[in-house]
Amino acid sequence: MTQKTANLQAILDNHLCTGCGACAAIVPDTIEMAETQDENRRPHLKQALNSFTEQKIQSVCPSLSASTMPDPKSILESAWGPVLEVWQGHAVDEHIRYKASSGGAITALALNAIERSGFHGALHIKACKSDPTRNEARISQNRHQLLEGAGSRYAPASICDKLHLITGAAQKTVVIGKPCDIAGALSVARFMPEVKEKMGLTISIFCAGTPSNSGTSKLLQRLSPSKPGHLLELNYRGDGWPGKMRTKWQIGNKIERQSISYEEGWGEILQQHRQWRCHTCNDHTGEYADISVGDPWQTPRQHNKIGQSLIIVRTERGRKAVRKAQEDGYLVIEKQEPNILFDAQPNLFSTKGAVWGRSVALSTCGIQAPTKTKASFNCWMALPITAKMQSILGTIKRIIQKRLRHAHPTKWLPKGYFSR
Ligand SMILES: Cc1cc2nc3c(=O)[nH]c(=O)nc-3n(C[C@H](O)[C@H](O)[C@H](O)COP(=O)(O)OP(=O)(O)OC[C@H]3O[C@@H](n4cnc5c(N)ncnc54)[C@H](O)[C@@H]3O)c2cc1C
Repeated sequence: MTQKTANLQAILDNHLCTGCGACAAIVPDTIEMAETQDENRRPHLKQALNSFTEQKIQSVCPSLSASTMPDPKSILESAWGPVLEVWQGHAVDEHIRYKASSGGAITALALNAIERSGFHGALHIKACKSDPTRNEARISQNRHQLLEGAGSRYAPASICDKLHLITGAAQKTVVIGKPCDIAGALSVARFMPEVKEKMGLTISIFCAGTPSNSGTSKLLQRLSPSKPGHLLELNYRGDGWPGKMRTKWQIGNKIERQSISYEEGWGEILQQHRQWRCHTCNDHTGEYADISVGDPWQTPRQHNKIGQSLIIVRTERGRKAVRKAQEDGYLVIEKQEPNILFDAQPNLFSTKGAVWGRSVALSTCGIQAPTKTKASFNCWMALPITAKMQSILGTIKRIIQKRLRHAHPTKWLPKGYFSR
């Protein structure tokens, strides 16, 4: 696989930035991550770049996702990356299970690492206390703090710009994020030994793409109160599986709650606001993480009942962590055949194939695309002919409609939203 290079401006102009914050981790005096309206978070310059800072950014930026993985040996590996084991189950702690996105496996694994394996904490995303429409990365060190982050937040978030929080601690930290966050964090760790030493376990969520802040604004219109009020809470998942998208408002001295189903919120609103980069992503399941967790969508759903998590163990370190959480009574899990992944996540499989066709269309039209991988080519080959054609022709249509040949000016949100 050849490593393509591009300077930061070219990465932004070609819609390649994932918003992970790896650049801000490697040159923190030059870049901070800032909130935008229609994309994910983006690098904002505190001072001008020079050839030294540009080079450092290029060394860690996962935007072109040049694969460091060996070529896959099977369609299973092509679709899902390294798979040592697959498990399905849930947190033993019923409150964690109820509050979490799926079955609370991630929160349970992080809690087990802190309480029983001497970890300092977990670096992860939670709603901003001062504004529940925004996210921030923080370190949690106990059950209460971890629970504040349980549940998926379908809005911009970056982990890597906060990696400095893990380096000062005496013990190791769990790092939890989206696939691009974990790829970015591991890139940073290659150049910052202090990050590598303290990143004791990486856990990725599965991710079909990050909706922008405009998506959240549209969602809030649907979830608005009967009279003008102050937003106290915004939750996208949890309180059952998959849980409702819901708001809690203060109107005078009254509390009002609004909710819509996950299917309505994701299907009718949020998924239409995913940043373009997510449509060209080769890794929707966190292939670089020690452990990846998603929804076992093959399991019949009973609305707003407690859920289950689907867990992929990818490394020996991940295997040890899952086994320990099971032995210590934090996780109840059952081993699954790896092929269950195709039934659980058919959309992510077809997306991985489509990404190869999309990249072909982009390169043909002279637009820089993420590196085409053998893995996504294998998935593309497994698609029906109509889907193969659609991945190429549909992208050409999008290039025109979305004006992808042109750089789009970044619409920054006000300064108060920077560097959360
Ligand atoms: C944008 C987005 C798209 C997703 N797409 C899919 C999909 O296509 N298929 C699928 O199966 N699952 C998807 N998920 C993941 C899924 O919803 C659950 O997060 C996953 O099953 C883990 O559930 P859990 O109960 O074990 O995790 P929990 O115990 O609830 O823990 C979730 C962890 O994820 C972290 N987190 C939440 N939001 C973000 C975020 N935006 N960025 C980084 N970290 C975050 C939290 O801090 C928390 O530590 C998506 C999630 C997001 C945020």
